[in-house]
Amino acid sequence: MQRLEVLGHWFNPDAPTTLPRPQALVSAWDPRRRAAVLDYLRAGRELERYPEPSFCRFDCGIAHTGAGDYTDGRWVWPEGLPHYVESHDVQLPEPFIAHAVACNGAPPRFRMPKAVFGLYDMAPWLMWSRAQGACPDLDGFDLPDPEVRDRIRADLGALIYDEILVCRGSTREVVLLVRGALELHQVKTGGRAPQRFDGWEEWPVAEGEANAGSAGGMAALQALKKQKPKPGMSFEEFFEQRRERADEHE
Ligand SMILES: [Zn+2]
Repeated sequence: MQRLEVLGHWFNPDAPTTLPRPQALVSAWDPRRRAAVLDYLRAGRELERYPEPSFCRFDCGIAHTGAGDYTDGRWVWPEGLPHYVESHDVQLPEPFIAHAVACNGAPPRFRMPKAVFGLYDMAPWLMWSRAQGACPDLDGFDLPDPEVRDRIRADLGALIYDEILVCRGSTREVVLLVRGALELHQVKTGGRAPQRFDGWEEWPVAEGEANAGSAGGMAALQALKKQKPKPGMSFEEFFEQRRERADEHE
């Protein structure tokens, strides 16, 4: 199966992952190249439509950037990607830009792929954005399920915070939202003193040399949630299997 390379999947502060922060990918565009890229992105064909629209990570006032995924048969991107390029100077991987420019902004004819499980390839996007220093270092962190959340809440005791964002079981670390700032706590006796970060822009970034496997992690899981699982397999079962496989690799 020919897989599609993902472009433009972003970090979401409400459900933090290792996906890139677009704020870390801002730099000036050559106007001619940008025009070709915008034409190209807008000329893609719709592959998938989601019930919930996406939102602009720059909080620019655009509430809905779109609810579809578009493709040219080689890459796949969210409907809202042109907005980031046009309004926020967000950069994209050079091979894609070079291709869009070479095509004068018009995707070549292609056969529409079937939206099947495993169609999206997240690894190149993560490797590229990591190399740009755009991905928060959240390897090993997970979004807690309700049960884990309850346990952490009990462990934190009387501590005042607004939300439990992510946790890492192996180190017993949790990231809390506390009045708009982030606090990294180690929930165990004799654990490290809490660290405070004013926002995700202050959080350490992931190293660029990570291989596709470890760069995948949560972000890849998040992307896969958007895809159809094998018939008869619930997402829970799928994630469980995936987790087991990941454990075997460690
Ligand atoms: Zn915006």
